[in-house]
Formats: sequence, structure tokens, C-alpha cells
Amino acid sequence: MSPRATIDSDAPKRVLVTGGSRGIGRAVCKQLAADGYDVAINYHSNEAAAREAAAEVEAAGRTATLLAFDVADRAATGAALAADVEANGAYFGVVCNAGIRADAAFPTIKGDDWDRVLRTNLDAFYNVLQPLTMPMIRARRGGRIVVMTSLAGLAGNRGQTSYAASKAGLIGAAKSLAQELAKRKITVNCVAPGLIETEMIEGAMVESLANMIPMQRLGKPEEVAAVVSFLFSEGAAYITGETISVNGGMM
Ligand code: NDP
Repeated sequence: MSPRATIDSDAPKRVLVTGGSRGIGRAVCKQLAADGYDVAINYHSNEAAAREAAAEVEAAGRTATLLAFDVADRAATGAALAADVEANGAYFGVVCNAGIRADAAFPTIKGDDWDRVLRTNLDAFYNVLQPLTMPMIRARRGGRIVVMTSLAGLAGNRGQTSYAASKAGLIGAAKSLAQELAKRKITVNCVAPGLIETEMIEGAMVESLANMIPMQRLGKPEEVAAVVSFLFSEGAAYITGETISVNGGMM
């Protein structure tokens, strides 16, 4: 083994989780910290929630860094990530998790809402990963990229054309990047949750939603985080370009 490889493999492993302040992203931060990673937590506006997420990472004995930026803003995202990589080195892994929805029947969707959903959910794939990929490759220690898509991206859903389009687009992007990065030992996979108990689905008729699910209950953020944890593990080193559903049996 070359001296360089020794140094690289011994370096502390840092991961970035976008939208890590609440919901699924927060559970992912906590889980990856428990797995031994230092975590950079991106959030948009809720700093108090981000601080709580950071405290959970630190309680697991790992370092947390807070990064406030809007993943839909290419310039702001690029600048924040370039500064972080310059200061702390390349990430070992990235979880592209931040996402929004703006549901409406197709004939009533406002153009601004369509654009906001596509920019936040789909354009963020480019905005976040494009500046991070070359540093990951140059670090020569492999890596993990996990993209949070959705059952809606696989099956479609009434009232969710913009959301489903963004999530289906992510699957295509991830499959393509997986093929580009495979020889660098960097895997790229998607996780597709069904209905998970977070603020994103607040206001929805939870009981009637649960009736639609074969397991008769909503999922928990920790159940999604467990799959991300597996995809980050050494045992998942040969899985890439895959989409794993976490949805209680919905088709
Ligand atoms: P929440 O609404 O609970 O949390 C969203 C997170 O994303 C927050 O941390 C929020 O930050 C952050 N965020 C939102 N917009 C931006 C932005 N423009 N830039 C940076 N960060 C942003 O969502 P969930 O945890 O439920 O969802 C997480 C992911 O899982 C999303 O991609 C969602 O589409 C997907 N998903 C969720 C399902 C569910 O049932 N909950 C089902 C299928 C997929 P802040 O705190 O600052 O607002």
C-alpha cells in the first residue's frame, strides 16, 4: 500500500447531510454519527432545529458543523461547500436529502411553485454534488452518495406532478452518476421513502393514509436512516445505481 493510501484511509470520515436539521435528515445525521462519521449539517432557515441536530451528533462523540444555505441557490451552495472543503477536506459521503413539496392538481399549479420544487429537489443534485465530486475522487478513498427520492418518483401520485417529476429525475441522475463514479469506488444510490412521520406530511389525514399502507402505519425517520446507514457501510460496497424503497409495502 502506498504511503498516500495509508494517510487517506486513516483520515477522519466526514459526511454532508442536506436538510439535516429536521425529519429524515436529522435521523440520518444522528445515525451516521453513531456509525462514526463527523457530520456537516446543512439547513435552510431553521437554525434552532439545526443546533438540536448538531447536539445529537456531538452526543454520539462526533464533530458537527452547521452549514446554512439554500440548496436551490447554485451560487450560495457552491460558495458554502467550496469554503467547507477548503477548510476541512473532501467529504467521504453526501446525503442529498433536502426536499420540499407544493402539491396541487396539475391544472392549478403555479409556475413559481413548479420551479421552486424542481430547483430545490432536482437542481440541488447538481448544485450540491457537482462541486463535491472532484474533491471526493482526488481523495482516493472511495465514498458514498445517497439521494432521497420518493415513492412518488417511482409510481407517480395525484396532485404531485412537480414533486414526482423532481424525484424521478433524481433517480435517473443518480443511476448515471453511479456509472461514472463506480471505478472510483464511490457508490451512488437512492432511498425512496413512502409515508414517513415528519413535518413534511403534517396536516395530512394520517389515519386514512395509514389505511392505504399494507403495514397499516406510517414509517419513522429512523427506519429510513437505517437504510442510509447500510448503504454507507462496507457491506454495501458493491451496490450502486440502486433505489431502495422504505414504504411498508406500498407499490
Ligand atoms: P421535512 O420537511 O421534515 O424537513 C426538510 C428538511 O430539508 C429540513 O431540514 C429543511 O431545513 C431542509 N430544507 C428544505 N428546503 C431546503 C433548502 N432549499 N435548502 C436547504 N435545506 C432545505 O422533510 P422530510 O424529513 O419529511 O423529508 C426529507 C426528504 O425525504 C425530502 O427530500 C422528501 O422529499 C423525502 N421524502 C419524505 C417523505 C415523507 O413522507 N416525509 C416521503 C418520501 C420522500 P430547515 O429546517 O432549515 O427548514
